[in-house]
Amino acid sequence: MEDRSLRNTQGKPPIIELTNAYSRGANRNSKSRDDLRATHSNGVCEELKTSERLMMRHVPTIRSWISLVVIVAFTSDAWSATWVQAPRTSGPLLPVELVVLGIAQDAGFPQAGCDKNCCRQAWADPSLRRRVASLGVIDHATGQCWLFDCTPDFPSQLRMLDERYRLGSEPIPSQREPPGLEGIFLTHAHIGHYAGLIHVGREVMGADKIPTYAMPRMEKFLIGNGPWSQLVELENIVLKPMQAGTEVRLNRRLTVTPFLVPHRDEFSETVGFTIKGPSKSVTFLPDIDKWSRWDRSIEKLIEQVDLAYLDGTFFENGEIPGRDMALIPHPFVAESINRFAALDETQRKKVRFIHFNHTNPVLQVGSKSAQEIKRAGMAIAVEGEVVGL
Ligand SMILES: [Zn+2]
Ligand SMILES: [Zn+2]
Ligand SMILES: [Zn+2]
Repeated sequence: MEDRSLRNTQGKPPIIELTNAYSRGANRNSKSRDDLRATHSNGVCEELKTSERLMMRHVPTIRSWISLVVIVAFTSDAWSATWVQAPRTSGPLLPVELVVLGIAQDAGFPQAGCDKNCCRQAWADPSLRRRVASLGVIDHATGQCWLFDCTPDFPSQLRMLDERYRLGSEPIPSQREPPGLEGIFLTHAHIGHYAGLIHVGREVMGADKIPTYAMPRMEKFLIGNGPWSQLVELENIVLKPMQAGTEVRLNRRLTVTPFLVPHRDEFSETVGFTIKGPSKSVTFLPDIDKWSRWDRSIEKLIEQVDLAYLDGTFFENGEIPGRDMALIPHPFVAESINRFAALDETQRKKVRFIHFNHTNPVLQVGSKSAQEIKRAGMAIAVEGEVVGL
């Protein structure tokens, strides 16, 4: 019997400690699945420095976590079903969970060098900051975790994933050691989606053979360019080729299927993922040029899944003054609202926008744009929200 009971609902808020889960992992005996676990061989000092810096930048304290939940209550749509829940600190919703680890565009929020109104408040108040878009999937019954995109916020996102994993029932939650990563799935070679891999190399984690799923051009890019090539040579990562439309089986009850989308493919092709659990399926599509440039119907895709995290980079045209937005095409949220108005309510409810540029007004507390999305029957993804798969 694979499933274990999920009886313990005690837990802690995600990411509140500075202790390092993986340094413990490095001291224990590695056997069987542990072989795939990321362990530290060196670089602990650098790691602690990195952690501290990132914690100062990003990690909410209990108080800011509570304020995040309060802000969310005012800025986002309600969680439409019991299997999609607000950032939570209690035990697993279901044995298989998906966690939203970040919601911002590649650059995060606030963005480097930005002192405009969009970012000023977030610089002053760390609880308003948001990590780069990424999802984590946890199978509490088998003790496995996967990451979707490896962002510049990888250190704190891995920590979030570990903390969420610890809320599982066995052994005692607080003593549950994080399992490391069973796999990393990469959408494409823009910096927000793979640059976090710098942390698995010799200067930081010295990870051991993390299965890293990549499309053919993405694979070639990693093999052919430093410093990524060193991760392959030292076997910090082991590349696992993917093919568009071909299902990757993660375990008995979880699959991932990549699908190609049009995007500015300078270094690699771009994919989205459909993740299927035992009872629900979720699509993650953080980057696409325009819905109309795709040879597939986004509406059909929405129909086929239970939830869709979709590209919400910009709210509307003109959002970046002085820059030709045609050179960085994305479906504006306003365009998506118009387009999806033709869908019935059940379909629109599945849409949760993600991957917000720092200029996107939905990142601002109490924004009218977020209300507009809500009125249109859709929602914005919230960092830390949990989906029972
Ligand atoms: Zn992106
Ligand atoms: Zn800004
Ligand atoms: Zn991109």
